[in-house]
Formats: sequence, C-alpha cells, structure tokens
Amino acid sequence: MKVAIIGAGFAGLACARVLRQNGLAPVIYEKSHVLGGRAATRRNGEYLFDTGATSISPRGLAIDKVMREEISTEGLVHIERPIHVHSMGRISAGDPMKNRIERYVYTDGINVLARRLGEGLDIRMQTLVERIDRLPAGGYEILGDTYDRVVLAVPLPQAQALLESAGDPRRVTAATYRPCLSVLLGYAAPFAGNFFAVIDPEQRHPLTWLSVESAKCAGRAPEGHSAMVAQMSPDYSRSRYDAPDEQIIHETAKDVERLLGAEFSTPVASDVKRWRYSQPEATIAYETLNPRLTDLYVCGDGTRGGRLEFAYESGLQAAASVLR
Ligand SMILES: Cc1cc2nc3c(=O)[nH]c(=O)nc-3n(C[C@H](O)[C@H](O)[C@H](O)COP(=O)(O)OP(=O)(O)OC[C@H]3O[C@@H](n4cnc5c(N)ncnc54)[C@H](O)[C@@H]3O)c2cc1C
Repeated sequence: MKVAIIGAGFAGLACARVLRQNGLAPVIYEKSHVLGGRAATRRNGEYLFDTGATSISPRGLAIDKVMREEISTEGLVHIERPIHVHSMGRISAGDPMKNRIERYVYTDGINVLARRLGEGLDIRMQTLVERIDRLPAGGYEILGDTYDRVVLAVPLPQAQALLESAGDPRRVTAATYRPCLSVLLGYAAPFAGNFFAVIDPEQRHPLTWLSVESAKCAGRAPEGHSAMVAQMSPDYSRSRYDAPDEQIIHETAKDVERLLGAEFSTPVASDVKRWRYSQPEATIAYETLNPRLTDLYVCGDGTRGGRLEFAYESGLQAAASVLR
C-alpha cells in the first residue's frame, strides 16, 4: 500500500512514524524547507527564538514516551520557571494549577523535536501540493506519483482546497483558526524576572503572551542580553496583519517597555513572523471528519486542539485509520 502524507508538522510526522513502524514506506510532501510546521525556530544574530509553539506539554500522551524513550533527549530542557499574568500593566503570579503542567523545550529550539521525529522518513522538502487527483480506477495522483491512501496533515482551511481538488464533498470550514503575529525582540539588557512568560488570560491587551526565551532555557541570548517573543492578540493580529514590520515592531516594543520597564525600550534585534492559522478557535473531531470507508484522511490540530501533543495524537489516529 502506497501512502502520501501532506505536511511535515507534528501530525504528519506522527502518522509517518507509525506507518513506517508497521512496514509501510509513506512519502511526506512538505512545502517548507524545514520540518515541524508551527513548531518553528528562528535565529536572528546571536538570539534564538521559538516563533510558533513556545514549549511542549506531553501530558502523558503518546509524544511523552516518544520524547523520552524513542528519540535522543540531548538538549531537552524542563522549563523550571512559572508563567505569570498581566493586567492593567501589573504582573502577578499565574494560576497555580496551570503552572503545575510540565513544559519542555530544546536548547537549540523546539524545532529540534520535529527534526528528530523526521529522521529516516522519506520527506520531499520544498514541495507544495496544490492538488490531489482522484484516479478513475481508485487511488490518487500527486505530482505524477500514484497512491492508495492520502493523509492531509495541514491546517483545515488549507485541507479544504485539497479536498475540493480531489472531488471530495467534505467541508471543513466550520473549523476556524486565529491569526497571530509573533514579534521577535532581542535586548542588550538582562531579564531579572522569576518567570519565563507572562500572559493576558483575558486577551484584552494586544500583548497576549510574552515568552522570555532567555529565561525559558540557556543559550537563547548572549550573556547579559535577553530574547523575547511577543505573541499578539487575535484582534491586534487581524488589524495589523498586512502592516509593515517596522510599525508592528515599534508598537510591540512600546507594549513590552510599559510592562517590563525602561531597560526594555529599544530592541537591538527584531523581526516579525506572521501566522495566518496559528491555533484553531473551533475544531471538528477526527471521527466526525473521517468516515470509516474513506481513503483520504484529514488530521492535524484542527481535529483535536491547538497543541503539539494533540496534533501528534491526531496523526496517530490517521495512521490507525490507514492501517485499518
Ligand atoms: C504562535 C503560536 C504559539 C503556539 N504555542 C503553542 C505552545 O506553546 N504549545 C503547544 O503545544 N502548541 C502551541 N501552538 C500550536 C502548535 O504549534 C500547533 O497546534 C501544531 O504545531 C500543529 O501541528 P500540525 O501538524 O497540525 O500543523 P502544522 O504544524 O501547521 O504542520 C502543517 C505542515 O504542512 C505544511 N503544508 C501546508 N500546506 C501544504 C501543502 N499544500 N503542501 C505541502 N505542505 C504543506 C506546512 O508547511 C506545515 O509544515 C502554537 C502555535 C502558534 C502559531
């Protein structure tokens, strides 16, 4: 049985790993030049930022065992510091229950986990799949190759176009995603706080989530400097999505200065990463989306919830469907 998987995020990688463990040789098509999708890491000078997912919380799900037992644990860091909250410009301790959740990252970036998950898999990098053609005799054609089964492991709005190209009547538009502008900021000042991130739980402030990358783990900024990623609220991100980088950086840096103080007035390194589909606001359950007799499966965080460990689980569900 020949299987194609579209997307090398956590869902696609999970699916491919299990299929390979069961004797199949799936082919993954990935449009980007890196694995991991929204588990993304970017270097800017001497600063290192996780621009999408900040950390992973395995919660005892399948990825937990994979991370600890099946792949190398080199550089795996347990994040010790808690998450604080901010409201009306004041920072206070966060929810103790939420702070009990174990969070992990890798010294060289969260993307390390994706690279390790992808080891040994047949992945066609920088290969955008724009359509999937259903063959009259059964199966599918993708970029000149034929397959018996296809797994779509992309954000659901992107899966919609591929389903339509295959003449599949399923509609996934009930699943919606929020956009997020991630603003990367490097400062020539040390961070003295005892937390690694501060959030606005009510998402009223444009600065919804500020991750201090250099407080998260060592190696993210030179000695005496700090690296931060500001994830902006859905409202702010929608209103500024097409604004110039300089404007977004200027406005965000002002927000950070107001929150953390004058030593964080002027970033010495900065960049903007735009996520059109950052995390789902509404999901469609995998079982609802995938009829029992289909040979074209749809998985990804849009079927489970916007977390790495959930995306991984959804890929396992798709693998189980293929094997069944
Ligand atoms: C700003 C932000 C912060 C987040 N914070 C956290 C966090 O702290 N913890 C957490 O657990 N989760 C977090 N998440 C959510 C988490 O990153 C996602 O839920 C998870 O990565 C989704 O994985 P996926 O495999 O479903 O999709 P993706 O990671 O999006 O993977 C899809 C892949 O498909 C590729 N692709 C798409 N279309 C095509 C095509 N037509 N042809 C070929 N390739 C294609 C893409 O390039 C991508 O690599 C965050 C996300 C964002 C954006």
